[in-house]
Amino acid sequence: MRLLVVEDNTELAELLTKGLNAAGLAADVVATAQDARGVLATTRYAAVVLDLGLPDEDGLAVLRDLRARQDATPVLVLTARGGVQDRVIGLRGGADDYLTKPFALEELVARLQALLRRPGALLGRSLCVGNIAFDTEARQVFIGEAPQYFSAREVAVLEILMRRSGRVVSKKLVEDQLFGLSIDVGSNAVEVYIHRLRKQLADNGATAQIHTIRGVGYLIAEDKEP
Ligand code: CA
Repeated sequence: MRLLVVEDNTELAELLTKGLNAAGLAADVVATAQDARGVLATTRYAAVVLDLGLPDEDGLAVLRDLRARQDATPVLVLTARGGVQDRVIGLRGGADDYLTKPFALEELVARLQALLRRPGALLGRSLCVGNIAFDTEARQVFIGEAPQYFSAREVAVLEILMRRSGRVVSKKLVEDQLFGLSIDVGSNAVEVYIHRLRKQLADNGATAQIHTIRGVGYLIAEDKEP
């Protein structure tokens, strides 16, 4: 799980990344709106910490563009502007949360963790685990930039797992979501889909894998960095 910190104050940026790392969250840092746009266009982050007072542009413009592209990545706005009006503008601009400087690092981490837990964060149009991206409307899966071709059932299984990435999903739940409650499915149907998905993901350089948790179910998770 990777976060993006957009902050031009290098000391603060360093403090933030240290605090996030201590909480088990990896973060990339950029200091300008232009760089933020650049990385956000090419990299999917679990969440963004966005400073508004950036040297080149207002952070809100970055946020607005992100939302205009239908990108639902959770954004926590971090700013010295603490007025009610500013908060409202930030939230209307598509921020998921708002924290005013000065702030306690613990509070920032706690708020980010709450954002990451929020199911809404994973209900967006695009899902992403490692370098696997899934456009749920177009039903198109990508590994990196490369489109992948799966059967409709395989895509459905992948979606169920990706919407719960990092969590174990029981085989029963996959069966129920896939076939509905009323149909009695062959006992290994889901296993067959999982097997094909797993192979194709591995063969195409995916940086996330589907793990089998024996007797419990399945889990898709990003590979741990070495
Ligand atoms: Ca600033």
